[in-house]
Amino acid sequence: MDRDRILLTPGPLTTTLRTKLAMLKDWGSWDADFNAITARVRERLLAVVHGQDSHVVVPLQGSGTFSVEAAVATVVPRDGHVLVPDNGAYCKRAAKLSQMMGRRVSVMPVPEDRPVRAAEVASRLAADPTITHVILIHCETGTGVENPLAAVAAVCEQHGRGLIVDAMSSFAALPIDARTTRFDALIAASGKCLEGVPGMGFVFIRKAVLEACAGNSQSLAMDLHDQHVYMGKTGQWRFTPPTHVVAALAEAVAQFDEEGGQPARLARYTANYQALTEGMAALGFRPFLAPEVQAPIIVTFHAPAHPAYDFKRFYEGAKARGFVLYPGKLTQVETFRVGCIGAIGPNEMRQAVHAVALTLQEMGIADGRPQT
Ligand SMILES: *Cc1c(COP(=O)(O)O)cnc(C)c1O
Repeated sequence: MDRDRILLTPGPLTTTLRTKLAMLKDWGSWDADFNAITARVRERLLAVVHGQDSHVVVPLQGSGTFSVEAAVATVVPRDGHVLVPDNGAYCKRAAKLSQMMGRRVSVMPVPEDRPVRAAEVASRLAADPTITHVILIHCETGTGVENPLAAVAAVCEQHGRGLIVDAMSSFAALPIDARTTRFDALIAASGKCLEGVPGMGFVFIRKAVLEACAGNSQSLAMDLHDQHVYMGKTGQWRFTPPTHVVAALAEAVAQFDEEGGQPARLARYTANYQALTEGMAALGFRPFLAPEVQAPIIVTFHAPAHPAYDFKRFYEGAKARGFVLYPGKLTQVETFRVGCIGAIGPNEMRQAVHAVALTLQEMGIADGRPQT
C-alpha cells in the first residue's frame, strides 16, 4: 500500500501533503530567510494563547518531554518545591523529571478516571507554604481526561504560587487564554494539535518571571532563558535548529489559521470524537472515561472481553486496513487508545471504525463488549 496510513495516535499525527512538502528544502541556520520563519512562527504561536502582552515563547529542539524538562529547569529555582497532581502517566513523567533534576517534588495522587479538583490543589497549597510551583497536565494523554486549567490557575494565583502547564496534547485544540488564565510556563510541541511534524517543543514563559529564571537551569542545552536571550540578540537558535521541522510548522500554522484557528480545530476534533465514539459504541466497545470528563483528543477504550482478543493482532488487523491504533497506558485494566487528532475528519474516523469491525470479524470476536 503506498498511501500513508492514518495515525490515530497522540503524536506523531497524520499531516497534510502541504505540510510534508514544506520539508523539501534545505535551510542555513544562520540565514535571514530561516530566521524570519522562526520569528513568524513564534509570533503566531503567541497569538494562539493571546499571550503577546504577557508572555514570550521559546522554542526548543527535541520531543515534547525535552521542553517539559526545560521548562521545569528554567522556571523552578534549584531549591524550589513542585506539587504534581497525578492522574496519569504524563503526570508521573513530569514528577520524575523534576525529581531527577534535583527539585523537591510532592505528588498528589488522583484517581485516573477523574479530573484533578482545584479545591484539593488549594488545600495542599494552604497546608504547605514551601510549595513554590504546581505542575498541571492539561489533557492527561494517558487516559484522555481533561484537567481544569482555569480553575487550578486561579488557585495558584490566589496562593501566590507558580504554575507550569503541560498543554502538549491540548494546545491549539482546547481554549487557553493567557489574558485570563495566569501561568508561569506552558508547554506544547510541533507534532500534536498544530499538526506539524515532531521534533521541537515550545514554552510560553510569563514575562514577569523571565528575569528571575536566569541561572536556574542546571543544564546548558535545556536553559530556555539562555535560548531566549540568544534568540533575542541574534534571531537564531542557540544550537542547530530542526530546520525542516520549523519550516513544516510554519506551513501547519498557516493552515491552522486558514481553518479558523483554535475554535475550528476543536470543532473538527469534536466531530471526530463523536464519529469515533458512536461507531465504537455500535460495535459494543466501552470508553474508560465518562463523557463529561473526556477531552475530544484521545479516547481510551476497554479491551473486548472475548478470549480471542489480543492487542497485537487487533493492532495488526487495523494497520493492514490503513489505521494505526495506540496501546493503553493503564496498569489496572486492559485498554487501547484511539486518537481523534491530526489532519483527518469524521470520514476517516468512520473508516477507522469500519476497519476495527472487519478486524474483530477476522479475529472471530462477535463484538467489543468488555468484561463487566
Ligand atoms: C505527547 C505528550 C508529551 C511529550 O511526549 P514526547 O513523547 O516527549 O513528545 C508530554 N505530555 C503530554 C501530555 C503529551 O501528550
